[in-house]
Amino acid sequence: MQTAQRILRGYRRRRLIVCIALAVLALLLTLSARYVAERNINEQRVLAFNQRVIGTLENILIPLEQANKDIVPLVGIPCQAAQLKMSEYAARLQTVRSIGLIKDDILYCSSIFGSRAVPVNLLQPRLPSALPLLFLTIDHSLLKGSPILLSWIPSANSSHDGVMQIINIELLTGLILEPERPWVSRAVLNVADSHLEYGKGLLQQISVEAGMVSHQIASERFAFSVMTIGPSPGALALSNLPTQLPLALILSMLIGYITWLATANRMSFSWEINVGLASREFEVFCQPLVSARNLQCVGVELLLRWNNPRQGWISPDVFIPLAEQQNLIAPLTRFVLEETVSYLDIFPKSRDFHIGLNVAASHFHEGEIIADLRRSWFPAHAPQKLTLELTERDALPDVDHRVVRDLQSMGVELAIDDFGTGQSSLAYLETLNPNVLKIDKSFTAAIGTDAVNSTVTDIIIALAQRLGIDLVAEGVETPQQADYLRSHGVNVLQGYLYARPMPLSEFPRWLRGNNMPPPRHNGHPIPVIPLR
Ligand code: C2E
Ligand code: CA
Ligand code: CA
Repeated sequence: MQTAQRILRGYRRRRLIVCIALAVLALLLTLSARYVAERNINEQRVLAFNQRVIGTLENILIPLEQANKDIVPLVGIPCQAAQLKMSEYAARLQTVRSIGLIKDDILYCSSIFGSRAVPVNLLQPRLPSALPLLFLTIDHSLLKGSPILLSWIPSANSSHDGVMQIINIELLTGLILEPERPWVSRAVLNVADSHLEYGKGLLQQISVEAGMVSHQIASERFAFSVMTIGPSPGALALSNLPTQLPLALILSMLIGYITWLATANRMSFSWEINVGLASREFEVFCQPLVSARNLQCVGVELLLRWNNPRQGWISPDVFIPLAEQQNLIAPLTRFVLEETVSYLDIFPKSRDFHIGLNVAASHFHEGEIIADLRRSWFPAHAPQKLTLELTERDALPDVDHRVVRDLQSMGVELAIDDFGTGQSSLAYLETLNPNVLKIDKSFTAAIGTDAVNSTVTDIIIALAQRLGIDLVAEGVETPQQADYLRSHGVNVLQGYLYARPMPLSEFPRWLRGNNMPPPRHNGHPIPVIPLR
């Protein structure tokens, strides 16, 4: 059995699940976004490092090209005549440690030592060469053993002649190859097949440790490249992720909270009722009321049914109290009214035929019910009599008796429903002056038993008769109950014994089956509605 609490708990649980799911999604998205952004930043840092090194080295080598052009013509000129120009160049270029002129394989002039006569291949085995060369090697003349970058330009006439420039690369790399942690842990300058690593000097081979990645960029202008080794940008971003966690958590909690607020309407029972109304999930049923004397149908009670596609059939005992709590009872009553008006033709066109509409006490507030009846019931000019059923469990004392009076003056009757089950106060029988009392089904069920309720049934019947109020007994299920009620002067009966609630569209068929010719007395039909 569905209970209101279970349904409400279900909504709250679903709402909570949606909020938590969105919060977790927000957390994951924030962290992923941060991860991707950090990884890109890390990649950019490595790229920028490599480009900076390339750029700096290119800027050093470009003036050397010009110097080579100016100095190559000096090859062959006596050292005294050439040395001054060479040392001027070396001084201007700053990065150049020394310049040497080679003629017939002999280094015959140095910008530092002046005239010399050393076979160049003793100092540098790769020289002389017919092709221009740029390579890393070890200094064998000035700062012996220190790494140098050597540029060789052969002269146009002979491969045995040329100019060599020695660049003080150790000092330079100390400045430009300094690692930039945590992105770059090692930086290496590659020239031809040799490598100069920051802090390690010249190496023949570079190995990359496990877990590290290398990144290499080559100069487009000169024959060298720069390689950096460091943690992978992704791994670095991942290790940095915990620092992003507090902010991401705050954001996700905020999103969860906003979702909670935003779903207050959408994921609630009231939202569901509104959707149900809009998508016609509600249906109006009716249950016949029969005359105790001749079993003729003297009216119907309109009962709402809800076929909720998500929850299945929901009993009105569940959704009516919830709708009342959420101030949605009036729209539901309006729906019942409008449906009934559109089906008016199915009911016997007689003023003696009662159409019972269940109305909540709150709907009487400020005459709201009158406004609704003016909108749909009165314009239909229904020949039948409308009876508003007010349940006694509602806040009856709050019902404005002037509204009831106005309704009665418009021909609308008032019935007190479930009479005897609430905080029965006889005072409002006087103030509200109801036309009908509906004996609750619990009292009908007590008939024939020796329960206290069976005594109460007798008292209610006697009370109504004393006050001249019509009686309708609900929940008549057995012929014994019907006999008892009939013999005690209850003139209208309602219950499964006669008919269960049915869709409005089925009522005409039921009515045809039920309509036996009315009993006659001395040739006159016996009235089906009790006469007062
Ligand atoms: P109620 O006004 O007392 O309606 C009579 C209830 O008794 C109906 O239950 C009906 O199906 C049931 N009933 C009829 N004959 C028998 C019988 O012989 N035995 C038993 N055991 N039950 C019988 P239902 O349709 O489930 O409605 C429950 C309650 O929901 C209604 O009680 C009424 O208070 C409320 N309700 C239903 N429709 C509306 C509506 O349109 N507006 C408002 N405000 N309340 C409604
Ligand atoms: Ca009722
Ligand atoms: Ca009732």
